[in-house]
Amino acid sequence: MKPIYIAIGANMSNPKKTLLNLSRVLAKRDIRVIAASSLWRNPAWPEGRGFPDFLNGVFQIEFNGCASELLHIFQDTETQLGRVKTARNAPRPLDLDIIDFRGEVRIDRDLELPHPRTNMRAFVLLPLAEIAPNWRHPISKLNALEALARLPLSAMETMQFETHMKPAD
Ligand code: AMP
Repeated sequence: MKPIYIAIGANMSNPKKTLLNLSRVLAKRDIRVIAASSLWRNPAWPEGRGFPDFLNGVFQIEFNGCASELLHIFQDTETQLGRVKTARNAPRPLDLDIIDFRGEVRIDRDLELPHPRTNMRAFVLLPLAEIAPNWRHPISKLNALEALARLPLSAMETMQFETHMKPAD
């Protein structure tokens, strides 16, 4: 079976602790983290609003259900960790996105695969390149480094290494 990659992020309520503990939280929902990138710090978007920095990373996971089931678990987990839907781009204690679900391509009202902004986000592509150098975007067929090279340099310049993650962290 082809792999599943997810993006993880947070920028409020102790993001580092939340993300380093996340594999344990996901394990309770039968999601097993089998590879973890580093955590990367980058400024909240849009810049200049004074929102706290984001910490971002990518996991490869094992999960026996379908993509919609995974999305529901993610929404539940985000809510459990205190996420309240407010304005777009508002600070959040946890953000979970499905980047690539076994190469599936779909555009539904509540779920798009692969995640539609994958190739625009250095904070997804850089951690993805760390753990999945051979991954290719299911539509553009670019690998993570090739997609990164197409972004403006400014997207990379602001990314700072924060810490390593271990699958069992
Ligand atoms: P966000 O505020 O960026 O976390 O967006 C959350 C919304 O995006 C959810 O309500 C999902 O229904 C929708 N969505 C669409 N595609 C995806 C995806 N691949 N992964 C996660 N959420 C998705």
